[in-house]
Amino acid sequence: MDYDVKGHLREVRSRLPEGVCLVAISKYHPVEYLQAAYEEGQRVFGESHEQELRQKVEVLPNDIQWHFIGHLQTNKVKYIAPYVSMIEAVDSLKLLKEIEKQGAKNNRVIDVLLELHIAEEETKYGLTLDACRQLLEEGEWRNMAHVRICGLMMMASYVEDEAQIRQEFRTAHNFFDEVKQRYFAESPYFTQRSWGMSHDYPIAVEEGSTMVRVGTAIFGPRVY
Ligand SMILES: *Cc1c(COP(=O)(O)O)cnc(C)c1O
Repeated sequence: MDYDVKGHLREVRSRLPEGVCLVAISKYHPVEYLQAAYEEGQRVFGESHEQELRQKVEVLPNDIQWHFIGHLQTNKVKYIAPYVSMIEAVDSLKLLKEIEKQGAKNNRVIDVLLELHIAEEETKYGLTLDACRQLLEEGEWRNMAHVRICGLMMMASYVEDEAQIRQEFRTAHNFFDEVKQRYFAESPYFTQRSWGMSHDYPIAVEEGSTMVRVGTAIFGPRVY
């Protein structure tokens, strides 16, 4: 292996304040790269494709916490429900209901984040702020005993303009405070603000991220 995964991982860690969770985004990277990060103490990994995730789960140590970070089709939930540690990008009530169903089948509670769409790009998935408010207001989630909403996730626009990125993180943070107060004031679980990727995680952390999802800065460029 010629890529210094361990060195890059240490570098990223050194830039994160205590208490910010680093999710190592390992999609498209070979198992040896994940193994190297594991040896360096990394235990939380994020993948975005169900089959690739399954293959990695089978060969890597079982104390790894796997986050599913990509767009998740409802018909794929059943495959990851037995073992996934967190589903980060829930963007519809339909998906939430399916996670509840599969959580019940597996007799476990599945941690999820609601994905917000704040960025300008039209291709990004996620709930608009109004759609998210509506989902929470309608309240069906309150009866889901096998789903635990642990916070929010979002991606900022992929732009050079730092001010714009910062503004989007701020919007997300303000929204977090709003829904925390309105719906989760009594919940000890609604704590996570998952924002920040390789190119913007230092800004994200300044803007109150509690969980960064960093791939390229640890593992190098992905080969598709
Ligand atoms: C791929 C991906 C990341 C990591 O992106 P990098 O730029 O490689 O750090 C983070 N979040 C999501 C949702 C992703 O799909």
